[in-house]
Amino acid sequence: MKGNLFIITAPSGAGKTSLVRALLDGDEHIKLSVSHTTRQPRPGEEDGVHYHFVEESRFVELLNHGDFLESAQVHGAYYGTSQSTVNAVLAEGYDLILEIDWQGAQQVRNQYAEAISIFILPPSMEALAQRLNNRAQDSAEVIVRRLAAARDEMRHVAEFDYVTINDRFEHALEDLRAIIRSQRLRREKQLVRYQDVVQKLL
Ligand code: GDP
Ligand code: ADP
Ligand code: 5GP
Repeated sequence: MKGNLFIITAPSGAGKTSLVRALLDGDEHIKLSVSHTTRQPRPGEEDGVHYHFVEESRFVELLNHGDFLESAQVHGAYYGTSQSTVNAVLAEGYDLILEIDWQGAQQVRNQYAEAISIFILPPSMEALAQRLNNRAQDSAEVIVRRLAAARDEMRHVAEFDYVTINDRFEHALEDLRAIIRSQRLRREKQLVRYQDVVQKLL
């Protein structure tokens, strides 16, 4: 059986990384795709855990070799999702989350029409600015650049299947859990998962 593919997109600071971490903690049937990026690691970020941190030359090599399901330039760095990891995780029957930007979301939809996409909005621009400042992991210059990019990113919200606002964290987390759960309950999945039960009933 194949797993479900979820795309989660949000402007920087909206809370997608914290929400996804909380989701993974409470659900062993879902995994997170670890992207490749050319940006510098933040304090506390580990290679292979948060990202595969690579030089630009290596990124271009992987890109030219066709190793990425999607890739995009975001806030001045390259980001890409490994095709082979996505294939392997879904084939094992795990659900998989891609935490990617709107450009990557478009590329993935074109290849996996069944992918479910979710956009996370902040409650306000002020809250977004405050979260980026509180996180205290990016320089002032980087924060300014990310806030400016947030509006452009949010203009793509209409391309997504689901939208949640991360005002109260627990509420947004419940929304994400509900979206994932309803996808798992889809008839075509359930009839395969419970084929023995259904066969005896019908
Ligand atoms: P964050 O927005 O604060 O989490 O900052 P990051 O530097 O971790 O991510 C920067 C941007 O790159 C975000 O818009 C991510 O969604 C996007 N991103 C991360 N990984 C990928 C990827 O594999 N592919 C694409 N297309 N975008 C990615
Ligand atoms: P992203 O991955 O979208 O850039 P993060 O998950 O790193 O966002 O969250 C940005 C900051 O905002 C973090 O310091 C996080 O702890 C905080 N944060 C996340 N969700 C909320 C929320 N609902 N209320 C207040 N702060 C939040
Ligand atoms: P950050 O560098 O703050 O972790 O991420 C910045 C932005 O890059 C976020 O919007 C994040 O979703 C996006 N991003 C991270 N990894 C990928 C990726 O593999 N592909 C794409 N397209 N975007 C990514």
